[in-house]
Amino acid sequence: MKQNTEMKIKNIISVLEEMAPLAYAEDFDNVGLLVGNSETESTGVLVCHDALENIIDEAVAKNCNLVVCFHPILFSGIKKITGKNYVERAILKAIKNDIAIFAVHTALDNHSQGVNKIFCDALGLTNTKILVPKQNFIQKLITYTVPDNADKVRNALFEAGAGTIGNYENCSFNSNGIGTYKGNSESNPVIGERHELTETEEIKIEVTFEKHLQSRILKALFENHIYEEVAYEIYNLENSHQNIGLGMIGEFETEMDEKDFLHFVKEKMIADGIRHSTFLGKKIKKVAVLGGSGSFAIRNAIQAGADAFLTADLKYHQFYEAENKLLLADIGHFESERYTKNYIVDFLRKKILNFAIILSEENTNPVKYL
Ligand SMILES: [Zn+2]
Repeated sequence: MKQNTEMKIKNIISVLEEMAPLAYAEDFDNVGLLVGNSETESTGVLVCHDALENIIDEAVAKNCNLVVCFHPILFSGIKKITGKNYVERAILKAIKNDIAIFAVHTALDNHSQGVNKIFCDALGLTNTKILVPKQNFIQKLITYTVPDNADKVRNALFEAGAGTIGNYENCSFNSNGIGTYKGNSESNPVIGERHELTETEEIKIEVTFEKHLQSRILKALFENHIYEEVAYEIYNLENSHQNIGLGMIGEFETEMDEKDFLHFVKEKMIADGIRHSTFLGKKIKKVAVLGGSGSFAIRNAIQAGADAFLTADLKYHQFYEAENKLLLADIGHFESERYTKNYIVDFLRKKILNFAIILSEENTNPVKYL
């Protein structure tokens, strides 16, 4: 728990990264601190969906010098800041008023407790699973040490975040074997003499870890291994990560008719309008969701056996991609992500006590319905 003394922006950022590691973000994204200096003392945090000009005004009025937004206001490159569009005006105003901006976006989309879990929770879906598991995110470390040192090395690796698979921690594989080495005149072997071929009983320790933890894992390895020269190998694995990824699928306890289901979604997500594909006369029990623009995952939802897929930003032709296999519904971009800011506020308030963490009162949804 952090107290309100000496609360720098970087301290708040470390809590935000605990909530959603920036390494979880998609490559195309622009997350993290977009404006401001992390060494600045923070006066308060304003959490919003989009860091528009009126949000910066709200931050000034509420004496918050850090705006935490879901969507990054700065997304593509910017070469001039003259205030000629809404992005430049927001940035100019933030800089003029010494207000920092931090964006979370796909770092939280990809988190198992993030945007899509929040979406599922709002609908009461249970038994949730990631819809599109993240690829190329797991690495494997193999290292060798003497039996007396194995526990220490393994525990240090676990402590640094290695060995987590699904709902299990401290996962490793260990095998016995014989290691050999011969040190040169510069060497200083812990076991054996330099220039002598040494054979020693060793344990081979194998663990997997999320690739962004690599430097932490290696530091733990080097600090806890007794050898002068630590032998180790790191591999990239092709396994997808079942706990990180976009979208989510879950199920209702009781199935619903399609029409009742859409009315239910409309009410729970406070959606002014839902566009949907043809009703199939099927009951809805298994539902896939993907907050924001999710047309890329229609096939994943079908493959996962969803009866319905809720997302946003669907174009005309994409409704055909439902292929009469599921009910496809566009509930609105903002609407599909609407409870994210509340989650961020709750997370920060739980971790940072006695500090101004304020939920913005502005509605930044640019889409209106007649
Ligand atoms: Zn979005």
